[in-house]
Amino acid sequence: MLKVEHIGIAVKDLGVSIPLFEKLLNSVCYKTEEVLSERVNTAFLKTGDTKIELLASTEPGGVIAKFIDKKGEGIHHIAFEVVDIYAEMERLRGEGFVLLQEEPKQGADNKLVCFLHPKGTNGVLVELCQEVGSTFGKS
Ligand code: ZN
Repeated sequence: MLKVEHIGIAVKDLGVSIPLFEKLLNSVCYKTEEVLSERVNTAFLKTGDTKIELLASTEPGGVIAKFIDKKGEGIHHIAFEVVDIYAEMERLRGEGFVLLQEEPKQGADNKLVCFLHPKGTNGVLVELCQEVGSTFGKS
């Protein structure tokens, strides 16, 4: 894995959290994007080489809404950038990790993504992400 690409943080209200993180990081939110498949609105800020991805649910039954109901706002996942997500998924499967997707799916920020089941990773939801177009990904 190349690096921590971003840290995903579950928030209730982007209208509150974007200005909060802008102040915290002294960095302006450079992108917001709705991810329909995940039922979330996302907002991105940069801190050096790493991004912070704020995630707010677009509906009460969404994944992020459920997470906040259970645990409150806070760190939701850590995303590692990989060169070849298919190869990395294969490697992790071979190591006995449980992947939450059979195939990578389209995530926010022009990425192919795959999540690992947190039960196999000490409770940390891990995301693999690969910039779309960075290698000869299958489709
Ligand atoms: Zn993410």
